[in-house]
Amino acid sequence: MAEPTAPGPDRARWLDAQDPLRGFTTRFERAEGVVAYFDGNSLGRPVEGVAQELDRFAREEWGTRLIRSWDEGWMGWPEQVGDLVGRAALGAAPGQTVVADSTTVLLYKTLRALVDHQVALDPARTDLVLDTDNFPTDRYVAEGIAAERGLTLRWIDADPASGVDADQVRAVVGERTGVVLLSHVAYRSGFVADAEAITEVVHGAGGMVLWDTCHSAGSVPVRADDWGWDAAVGCDYKYLGGGPGAPAHVYLAHRHHDIPSLRQPIQGWMGRRDPFLMEQGYVPAAGIRALVSGTPPIVGMVPVRRGAELLAEAGIEAVRTKSLALTDFAWSVVDAWPQHLGVVVASPREHARRGGHLTLRHPAFEEVYPRLWDRGVIPDFRSPDGLRLGLSPLSTTFVEVWEGLEAVREELERAGSR
Ligand SMILES: *Cc1c(COP(=O)(O)O)cnc(C)c1O
Repeated sequence: MAEPTAPGPDRARWLDAQDPLRGFTTRFERAEGVVAYFDGNSLGRPVEGVAQELDRFAREEWGTRLIRSWDEGWMGWPEQVGDLVGRAALGAAPGQTVVADSTTVLLYKTLRALVDHQVALDPARTDLVLDTDNFPTDRYVAEGIAAERGLTLRWIDADPASGVDADQVRAVVGERTGVVLLSHVAYRSGFVADAEAITEVVHGAGGMVLWDTCHSAGSVPVRADDWGWDAAVGCDYKYLGGGPGAPAHVYLAHRHHDIPSLRQPIQGWMGRRDPFLMEQGYVPAAGIRALVSGTPPIVGMVPVRRGAELLAEAGIEAVRTKSLALTDFAWSVVDAWPQHLGVVVASPREHARRGGHLTLRHPAFEEVYPRLWDRGVIPDFRSPDGLRLGLSPLSTTFVEVWEGLEAVREELERAGSR
């Protein structure tokens, strides 16, 4: 078949037929009545077999082995599942990633550890740099830590249709910079920050960077080790398919391990050296384990492990290639819509800066998106006028993109004629 060039259903079918990852799209639980799932960047679909694995876990590892399973394996899961996520999604060599707690809690623990460390080294480094368009939880955690530790928040004004660039960072960092907190992929626009260049700029000023990988882990290649990252925290329930409330991941570079001034603040027994000796006084465990606090959320790690294994099998480079093809196709479909619809794409067109999701803007989206949900077309709405299309590469087909966008166009035409 010759390549159909018009952005329509024939081209969608052709792209699916050419897709080297098409075999992965059927390796997720079937969702009856769902025509197009555009929210895999917010809550990934369950990987096929996860239900059976949870069932087996409950019957065998938990139900039969009972508490013996802690000795037989669970104690090591935070590091083991962490290494899996680190390798598949973060470009991290083993021993630098653990899975534990929620994203918000890990952001708090890691950010507190870094800001305290910086002030311990140099009491003048009391600036905490962040941007106005980061995800709310990141901003709120930073505000809380600034209040708690007497730090100054330095805000970078981020363009909601793109994101923070190295020049903006260069303009705010200096002798007072403690830590910079940024998202690798912006949750609204999908802008991919130049994480390598920005890290270098911050290091040049004597600062440290905490990268939020919620929207990048599993959708764009991350090379935490190669890019000299200090630390990263991100969700496992978005592109990694870990399920609602899945424990998050934290990466801390080897060079920052076992440093007395660099301590996370929630000193629980599971992050202590030899926890079962039940001794007086907290002594952090060696290495990345020190970022664990209480009993790890083992049940929640079962799907995270499956998701990370699936990603490793596909390979992040292939995932990225498909991701760009999906957003290119979606963009071409929207470009072909009649002008009078007035839809604007508020995401970066340039491949290097474009993540795995696109945001469309239109004043009628707030009214339209519940009707889309009723039709089994599931994007999410981001106030005030954004419709976010998360095109999770492993689970999304081009035909799904076409059918979902057709529904968006029809509902907008209908809203406009009322
Ligand atoms: C989704 C997301 C979060 C979510 O944090 P939780 O603690 O899991 O609720 C945080 N930061 C960013 C950038 C996100 O996209």
